[in-house]
Amino acid sequence: PPRAATEKFTTPAEALHTVFGFDSFRGDQAEIIDQLVAGNDAVVLMPTGGGKSLCYQIPALVRPGTGIVVSPLIALMQDQVDALTAVGVRAEFLNSSQDSATRNQVERDYLNGDLDLLYVAPERLSSEATKRFLERGTIALFAIDEAHCVSQWGHDFRPDYLALSELADRWPDVPRIALTATATDATHKEITTRLQLGDAKHFVASFDRPNIQYRIVAKNEVRKQLLSFIKTEHAGDAGIVYALSRKTVEQTAEFLKTNGINALPYHAGLDAGVRARTQSRFLREDGVIIVATIAFGMGIDKPDVRFVAHIDLPKSVEGYYQETGRAGRDGAPANAWLAYGLQDVVQQRRMIDQSPGDLSHRRTLSGHLDAMLALCETVDCRRVNLLRYFGQTSTPCGNCDTCLNPPEAWDGTIPAQKLLSTIVRLLRERNQKFGAGHLIDILRGKETPRATQYSHTELKTWGIGADLSDQQWRGVVRQMLAQGLLATSGEYGTLILTDAAASVLDGSRTVQLRTEPDRPLRRTPAAKS
Ligand code: ADP
Ligand code: ZN
Repeated sequence: PPRAATEKFTTPAEALHTVFGFDSFRGDQAEIIDQLVAGNDAVVLMPTGGGKSLCYQIPALVRPGTGIVVSPLIALMQDQVDALTAVGVRAEFLNSSQDSATRNQVERDYLNGDLDLLYVAPERLSSEATKRFLERGTIALFAIDEAHCVSQWGHDFRPDYLALSELADRWPDVPRIALTATATDATHKEITTRLQLGDAKHFVASFDRPNIQYRIVAKNEVRKQLLSFIKTEHAGDAGIVYALSRKTVEQTAEFLKTNGINALPYHAGLDAGVRARTQSRFLREDGVIIVATIAFGMGIDKPDVRFVAHIDLPKSVEGYYQETGRAGRDGAPANAWLAYGLQDVVQQRRMIDQSPGDLSHRRTLSGHLDAMLALCETVDCRRVNLLRYFGQTSTPCGNCDTCLNPPEAWDGTIPAQKLLSTIVRLLRERNQKFGAGHLIDILRGKETPRATQYSHTELKTWGIGADLSDQQWRGVVRQMLAQGLLATSGEYGTLILTDAAASVLDGSRTVQLRTEPDRPLRRTPAAKS
């Protein structure tokens, strides 16, 4: 039965059990909630999936009045409100997508004290009219979600967020909570000063997931690699395999199925009914493997996912972290396995070049990709690298591929020079550009029809790289792309030199490459010392 308009819960625990059906709070949730219920401010840095929403939803169910939630995610407001309404919370939103009749109704509900939560777009809250309107009702708290949007130096800056600093002056007695999943020190400081949260208590959750073993392997025959990974390490386990395209999703699911694996495809192009059935099989049956685009996983809370595999390179470290974070929520050992290769780099650079939007948008995407590539190519601990990205320092974990099998570095200056000079010669002498495949054929002296057609057999660099295998060469090209010594251009992913390449060609810079480990990982993680 719907609760009466003024009815609130006596304790946070009661709201947790009755409304959300959960047994206990996670991490810092209880303490954060107590802080707000007592009328004090909080700043919360917690990874995605950590459970930030309850930190303001529950205090709003306990304190008198309405919790005002500022969120830039207007597209998600309807979903959030629907989900809350479904469990009996009186929630509404105000944004520019509504007609005036709906808006009037929501405003009346608020003034009558009939709302537990009211989601408001930041541009609304920065208007004087909205503030005067809010003053006429009772406010339980202000929650500023995605608080990093206040940072002028961050990638998500929203000018409207700056106006939120005024909340402190206007409503000094209303507790405020700022939440974000961005953990860098600089952002944290900016949130605190810009939102006037100097007296707030700060809660910084660790972004580490110690039970997840990170592993990044060089891609060659990715489906076979995946199959062998699943068969040898995860027979009968539940897992998620991520791919970028729907086609790859379907082909991979089919391949696994014909090889006796209980795999199902999932992507946005499938019928809603099929998707719902797939999702519920994954949640209810044992050992189901979902092959999916990133459309899968949001809001899915299955504790015993034993592995997350990526067969295409994720576009950002944030995405990688979020997707791998779906493994091992129960705390038992889990694997994050990623196969990545030259083609991933070429393809993603091309997608960025062709993406709509202005130069600064493309630069942002490019920066995200570079950080992801740095994680892939690191010779140091993956976890240290990952946590550093989120602004947290840690020591080598002893439980990732680079810790267990330290990659050896080798001096790749000579092969790099051979490749670069081949590219330069083709351009200068013949005004030609090629992709990695043909360049490697030239270096290895492989007599293909194309090589004959263009008489590339007469090039001075023909066959000078026969000492490396095709696979090794692809590793060289991939790492040079990652290090910014090569770039791709145009639709076909032809390789061109960057400014940095000049210093390699003239011998003033060496190129350090990592050896692709061909030894299998030790199964038992080494103990931390
Ligand atoms: P965030 O906003 O930090 O990304 P959410 O608030 O969406 O995270 O929570 C992530 C998931 O964890 C949701 O499915 C939520 O229902 C669940 N969750 C949060 N707190 C608890 C809890 N105390 N017990 C069980 N599940 C929880
Ligand atoms: Zn490590």
